[in-house]
Amino acid sequence: MQERAVVVGAGINGLVAANYLQRNGFAVTLLERRSQVGGACAFDSYYLDGQRYDYPSGATVLGFMQDFVFEETGLSKQLSVCAPKHPSVVWFESKKEPCFIYDDGAELRVEVKKKWGENGDVLGYLSDFEKVRDFIINGYRNAEVPTFQSAVESLGETTASRWISGSARALMDHYFTSELMKVYCSIDVMESGPVSIDSPYSAFTIPLMSSGSIFGGKWGFVKGGLWKLTEELAEINRALGIEVITSARVLDASGGDLVTFDQNGVVKTMPYDYLIFATDPLSAAKLVKDERLIDKTQTMKAQGTSGKLVMLFRKPVIWKDSTGQEDFDLSFKFVLAVDTMDELESSTQAVVDGESDFQPGYFELYCEGAGMRKLGLDRGYESVSVFLKNLSFSKSGEQLPHVKQLVQTRILSRIENAEDLIDSILLAPKDLKERFFLPQGNIDHVELAGGQTYFQRNYSPNPESNFYQFGKSENVRYCAAGSYPCGSIAGTPGYMSAAQLIRARARAGKG
Ligand SMILES: Cc1cc2nc3c(=O)[nH]c(=O)nc-3n(C[C@H](O)[C@H](O)[C@H](O)COP(=O)(O)OP(=O)(O)OC[C@H]3O[C@@H](n4cnc5c(N)ncnc54)[C@H](O)[C@@H]3O)c2cc1C
Repeated sequence: MQERAVVVGAGINGLVAANYLQRNGFAVTLLERRSQVGGACAFDSYYLDGQRYDYPSGATVLGFMQDFVFEETGLSKQLSVCAPKHPSVVWFESKKEPCFIYDDGAELRVEVKKKWGENGDVLGYLSDFEKVRDFIINGYRNAEVPTFQSAVESLGETTASRWISGSARALMDHYFTSELMKVYCSIDVMESGPVSIDSPYSAFTIPLMSSGSIFGGKWGFVKGGLWKLTEELAEINRALGIEVITSARVLDASGGDLVTFDQNGVVKTMPYDYLIFATDPLSAAKLVKDERLIDKTQTMKAQGTSGKLVMLFRKPVIWKDSTGQEDFDLSFKFVLAVDTMDELESSTQAVVDGESDFQPGYFELYCEGAGMRKLGLDRGYESVSVFLKNLSFSKSGEQLPHVKQLVQTRILSRIENAEDLIDSILLAPKDLKERFFLPQGNIDHVELAGGQTYFQRNYSPNPESNFYQFGKSENVRYCAAGSYPCGSIAGTPGYMSAAQLIRARARAGKG
């Protein structure tokens, strides 16, 4: 008889886990509390003068997904995607000229020496970075339990300590001489929250954030908007026979083999053989009513400090400093407001206690509108999403008009046709909590901090044998952004958790 798996939460991880489980013999039901699937991969609409402008309210760009997940789920047949050919453009506000991040190491070495005065071992850095990245990616494909020992065996003690358990500052000091190079290469460390560049395991986030393989570690766009990916995956899942129930909020999962949920005001129960949480870990712990897990998740670091400014333009954006080369308009662009590692660190920590609403750190610019044009979709308007640092948790975007103005002015100073801006929408961590139920607005559910990353990013009493187990019961699992490796529109925890369960059932002679 088929075993029944109930997956709670239809974000990218719940959708990917459900897809793998159903294709491997389980009968899967997916319960989602919102009226639509996608979790933090969603869209919203802005209306002006009778016109509707859709924009990504959560995630904007694709890149962290593994190529095999894209293929095996069936997504690759349904979606058109592209990544810019032009190197990323980095503007330090203190510098006149931008720096281009070439793929080719020799070219990059010349560029960063010229623009940033970097005299360190750029080629050595890139070579070690790739080794660590490949090690991480192999672990994903094989759905291996992450351990420090396996890193040491694969990379050697020195590299494993430097790139995994070490601090980001020590990693940067080892390879580079210039502060600008060190700052640019370490911004990923605080992507999920106010993680210190001096803390153990902060180095690991750097190769981790480039361990996607769909575009070879780079990032790109999905035709129609990134939310099409989760919408499509829900359709694929339905066609596979998965029961996808929306507006179904799980209320209780402490019953052992029964889950209780509210569907449009009607309370229902559903039996399961396996229950797989793809929500944030704090909500999941409360639903299973496991005191140990509640204590653990409530003391985890979960602050979010990222915001998002969506800028809508009536015409294609014309960027300053264009090289005139292919894809300059859709290339990834960065504006950095800090010049030294100390400034990067202090800007990150300044918003932790809520005394300061905003401390400019860095801005990542995703030229979504240009990406759509490249993919052959002219929406008649253009959007640029600005992923920005650092905001406190105390106020919503609407309560921060001065921040909206400040960020907007900074970005418009890089644009020739600033007069084409229609409006912009600011989302702060507080908004992200309210819209997407992200604990303290953290885009990875919980911070990628020491004690919460790599092999410690789990909720299992016996991680070495059952890494994705959630609490006491072997039949309850967790597979969302709060587990290894982290968040992103990748579905890697969803895949790894499902693959480990499928393997365990096969070993037991089932499935
Ligand atoms: C502003 C922002 C920008 C981002 N930018 C990017 C980007 O450009 N690229 C990228 O790759 N990533 C980006 N991310 C990160 C990425 O969106 C998340 O890490 C990812 O969506 C997490 O997916 P998930 O499936 O783990 O969890 P979620 O998307 O959080 O899904 C959890 C689901 O569980 C549901 N749920 C919760 N409680 C219950 C319950 N009791 N019963 C039933 N259902 C429940 C929720 O409604 C939700 O749908 C961004 C995130 C944000 C917020």
